[in-house]
Amino acid sequence: MREQLAIWLGRGAGMLSRWLGRGGGTTLPGVMARRIAPNLLQYLSAQLPRGVLLVAGTNGKTTTTRMLADVLTHAGWRVVHNRSGANLVSGVSAVMLAHADWRGRMHHDVALLECDEAALPYIIHETQPRIVVLHNLFRDQLDRYGEVDTIAQHWLTALAELPDSTIVCIQGDDPSLARLAQSLMCRVVVYGNDDLSSARNSVAHLADAGFCRCGHALTYTTRFFAHIGHYTCPQCGFTRPTPDYAITQIHTDGLAGSSITINQTAHCVVPLPGSYNAINALAAYTVADVLGIATAVAPAIAQMQPAFGRYEVVQTPHHALVMALIKNPVGASETIRMFVEAWEQPANLLIVINDRDADGTDVSWLWDADFEHLVPHVHQVFVSGTRAADMRVRMQYAGTPTTHIHYHESLVQALDAGLAQTPAGHTLSVLPTYTAMLDLREILVERGWSKPFWQD
Ligand SMILES: [Zn+2]
Repeated sequence: MREQLAIWLGRGAGMLSRWLGRGGGTTLPGVMARRIAPNLLQYLSAQLPRGVLLVAGTNGKTTTTRMLADVLTHAGWRVVHNRSGANLVSGVSAVMLAHADWRGRMHHDVALLECDEAALPYIIHETQPRIVVLHNLFRDQLDRYGEVDTIAQHWLTALAELPDSTIVCIQGDDPSLARLAQSLMCRVVVYGNDDLSSARNSVAHLADAGFCRCGHALTYTTRFFAHIGHYTCPQCGFTRPTPDYAITQIHTDGLAGSSITINQTAHCVVPLPGSYNAINALAAYTVADVLGIATAVAPAIAQMQPAFGRYEVVQTPHHALVMALIKNPVGASETIRMFVEAWEQPANLLIVINDRDADGTDVSWLWDADFEHLVPHVHQVFVSGTRAADMRVRMQYAGTPTTHIHYHESLVQALDAGLAQTPAGHTLSVLPTYTAMLDLREILVERGWSKPFWQD
């Protein structure tokens, strides 16, 4: 009875909020319904014949989840997916609720849920997942979460409650996850990158989990970025696990993406730029193969469009805007690398940094991101957002001439200045934080250059 009432109320609230034009991403129905039936998520999850799949990680979880959603759909499965990015317990509940009928019945095969790092333990507890993907764990939004080890410990505690039939897929190149997997009783499947050509060994300042639990520094034979690589501990012998699924070859092709070979036999074209998207595809392949639908991976991923806001091209009347979300030092450094690889000549760049709750209120991460790498490749830099002043100082320290940095408090003015300084037919590249991207998106929608995101 409580579930029934919760479903009516929650679905009603969802319809009302859509009718009021608040978009599909609101969590209000989930919050309301959970007040009445706290076990709602459990109730809905238990009805799915192919179970619940969870994906967590600091970087790449949205793209990985979208890849996997396309693969599952291609295989003919009916998928519940929190595509709008609502990845807290209330948001996940709202998405499940929106897919139930008025009698509270689910007619889908599987739920695929991207999970916030801090919310994952609760979502694990309530959904009793069939598969959990732990993609990576970076220092991110310290003000919200605290240390990486604390998160890993919470994940471990939640995973320990699950039955032996649960499968945990981890990226073995991340030592914090490999360490966590050693303590699990359930089946662990490891994926990792064996193609050493995508390695860089010069990013020591990004290391945030470079120490073994025994206290000794890890030794890396290969480092892809930050603490991700091939490692071993000279003191206690802890070492990177041999992957069950490995990228054995990767060919990257700038913004066009890459093509990868997995376990020397499976080939996949990944139409999203950056070697990290190749790893996202590997994670999707791993889950698909565990589920017995690996043949759906290559055709599904080859047709992919980038996740909303992560990397997006918007046409304006005279320019192309290429936008890529930045939110933490590792992701930002990878995005900068991707931009620089794609630019054929010095480019104009708009950087919009906000420090609202959804961005993380601590912007000290700007100092850990590799903005220095941009300097030889940028022409004019436009900065805006609530922390535009910090960003201006950051670019000055990185070495951009002061005369090439343009500060605009108003985002509209910054955008217009950037476009005005960019020759027609050329690209203005944009690096926004999350809420900055939403603000920017609003301007683009108002001008008719882009549609509201809930229409995607
Ligand atoms: Zn050790």
